[in-house]
Amino acid sequence: MEKPKIVVVGSSNTDMVVKVPYIPASGETILGTDFMTIPGGKGANQAVAAARAGTDVTFIACVSDDSFGKQAIENYRNEGIDTSCIKIQPGIHSGIALINVAEGGENSISVAPGANSYLFPEDIYGFEDVFEGAKMVLAQLEVPLETVEAAAEVAHEKGIPFILNPAPGAAIPESLLSKVTIISPNETEAAIITSRNEFSEKDVPIMAEEIFEKGGTTVLLTLGGKGVYLKTFDFEGIIPGYKVKAVDTTAAGDVFNGALAAALAGEMDLKEAVDFAQRAAAISVTRMGAQPSAPTLEEIQHVQF
Ligand code: ADP
Repeated sequence: MEKPKIVVVGSSNTDMVVKVPYIPASGETILGTDFMTIPGGKGANQAVAAARAGTDVTFIACVSDDSFGKQAIENYRNEGIDTSCIKIQPGIHSGIALINVAEGGENSISVAPGANSYLFPEDIYGFEDVFEGAKMVLAQLEVPLETVEAAAEVAHEKGIPFILNPAPGAAIPESLLSKVTIISPNETEAAIITSRNEFSEKDVPIMAEEIFEKGGTTVLLTLGGKGVYLKTFDFEGIIPGYKVKAVDTTAAGDVFNGALAAALAGEMDLKEAVDFAQRAAAISVTRMGAQPSAPTLEEIQHVQF
């Protein structure tokens, strides 16, 4: 059977991960126990998660001609991802992330975006043809906002649903929100979108409502191990996640979004798709790393919690 097609627009990074006993404070140096170089970047993680979850993915991204960029492209090809729309920008480094992962699963991340900042709206318009036949377009905020807006515009013009995972957190212009079909912030990102400096659990439904009112889009506010708060025009409430022993939550949101796009492209209804995505994300937090932790379709379908 032919796989449904999706387009992912976003970042490509190389993650350098140190396993540490705890996240070091400012000015503190601690000894880690393990070091790994792992392909990452929210765009790439979501593209890989969607490909493993059973879709035909075209990834629009920008890397440099350095060894990190070359290795990244080879890795996407090995995942069966169409890399023909990955722009190669010489004269700058490819995206890099420095990640500390603590024993309890918490993390701290600093990113040097490099080539990711060179993915421009004209690149999206130049690749407009590849959107033909796509069932979903998925983007995040690790490439320039104008580029994400261009992707939303092309999706909107072609009548393709557009999922925005607004990460890392940023204010979202209404011009973009109005073209989004599903928005999937975590709690911190939801607080940023709704201009809050702080929030507690009781603010979750209010933040979801405020985002819904701004864009009229489906809001999927992810709540870590607690699951998802879903707000649509005819439903609001928590859809609980799955209980697992977390070892690394680095890419939970990425796996969730990639699997969600795959499920919706495969014509599941929204609640089934959320369940599929939560299964995928729960599996991923039991494993180390970002992309390596994304499960296959078979694993998602057969996992027992
Ligand atoms: P992000 O990684 O973007 O911060 P979340 O932490 O909210 O996003 O996680 C996204 C989804 O991943 C959650 O809605 C949930 O389904 C799943 N998830 C995250 N952490 C856990 C966990 N500890 N146990 C089980 N599922 C988890």
